[in-house]
Amino acid sequence: MLKITNTLSGKKEALIPLEPGHVKMYVCGPTVYGAIHMGNARPAVVFDAFRRYLEYCGYKVTMVQNFTDIDDKILAAANEKGIPFDEYAKLFIAEYWVDAHLLGLRAANFHPRTTRYVSEIIHLIEKLIARGHAYVVDGDVYFDVRSFPKYGELSHRRIDDMIAGARVAPDEKKRFPLDFALWKAAKPGEPSWESPWGQGRPGWHIECSAMSMSLLGESFDIHAGGNDLIFPHHENEKAQSEAVTGKPFARYWMHNGMIRFEGEKMAKSIGNVFNLREAIRQFGKDGVKLFLLSKHYRSPVELTYEALDESRRAATRVKETLKRAEEQGVNILIHFDNSWVNEMRARFKEALDDDFNTSKAIALIFELSRELNSALERGDTKRAATAYSLITREFGQVLGIFDTLHETMKIDEESSFEETLHILLEIREILRKEKRYDLADKIRESLRAIGVKLEDTPQGTRYTLDKHA
Ligand SMILES: [Zn+2]
Repeated sequence: MLKITNTLSGKKEALIPLEPGHVKMYVCGPTVYGAIHMGNARPAVVFDAFRRYLEYCGYKVTMVQNFTDIDDKILAAANEKGIPFDEYAKLFIAEYWVDAHLLGLRAANFHPRTTRYVSEIIHLIEKLIARGHAYVVDGDVYFDVRSFPKYGELSHRRIDDMIAGARVAPDEKKRFPLDFALWKAAKPGEPSWESPWGQGRPGWHIECSAMSMSLLGESFDIHAGGNDLIFPHHENEKAQSEAVTGKPFARYWMHNGMIRFEGEKMAKSIGNVFNLREAIRQFGKDGVKLFLLSKHYRSPVELTYEALDESRRAATRVKETLKRAEEQGVNILIHFDNSWVNEMRARFKEALDDDFNTSKAIALIFELSRELNSALERGDTKRAATAYSLITREFGQVLGIFDTLHETMKIDEESSFEETLHILLEIREILRKEKRYDLADKIRESLRAIGVKLEDTPQGTRYTLDKHA
């Protein structure tokens, strides 16, 4: 039984989706005004792996990750460069996809952008006004926090305590310090949209409510993001969504810890940026992912050169062992050591079922790698083939590390990838003839996860490659 820590209750809870067998999740994505840094990479990597694990457990998953493509920082940066804000945002969305590809992250089912949801946002705000949860002042619209008694429930704060530190900025026209903008009246020179309250643009929080509810429904299972978003972003999202629908919004809230850089939270605003592309170049995809996944997702992570380099070395050790197995041909042996497989699978599941403890799951992969090494030395090919397979075709696929096929999927190594693919298809053909459909299906699923789609026809198996899968 998979348990996750729900920020809302502060407890580990069994994950029970609203619709049996189908998990719907929303992850707050990046605001696209600059290159992706390690701080943005953590939720992307963690929740990509979490989604794969849900699928490994047999769930269907519908995942949404947005791009915030309009906000003050984007406008300021685009202005400085002298290009239209939407062109500027598009540029960094494209850059995100390059990074996602380098990290082997799968695309979510939906990647909505704020500017494409303005009419849904306006519609939500109209409903909030009609229900007495929002008010208009000179073309701005604010959420009335005092109209929603459960405000503070997610971040476990009391309204009275929050007011103490809150200030109303001189240019804001809100009635109460904690009220927040749903719609901002247009300022001269800013992009704007027509609305019942005049020209303007959406506030930040309302966009995630509009996109998540449009794509996943008024109530859905998991809302995820960095723990710096709990307050005010997620608290506000929850308040405005529940105020509109009268139903619980997300039922489970998952938050990853921050990446700290010499003791400071990594956020662009304080200038502690460690560029992700550069990290991948220096430490490799597996090094970076190992670094991000080897701590529990809720813990803070200290980002140091030494820690990244240690992850790179650990990844190299595993990869060298895998390579040796390939050279000795055990990678194409398919005789599983079944009782041992069951034990390893049980331990893998036990780790990840316990609040997605990737740290333990990775320790198990290292253990498998050591076992592979010693099995190769003592000539135990059955054990070696099993360990190899568990690392690269099963556990590695779930965590998105040591999934060696993907690593060979570089433009200059296209042919070696296709060769490997043909070998796999041949093995799958043999398995199908032997009616070992479970293994044949496993190969199909694993290939699917790295963007290779198989289609069985009377003439044989055809495949298509989707590099953005
Ligand atoms: Zn959000």
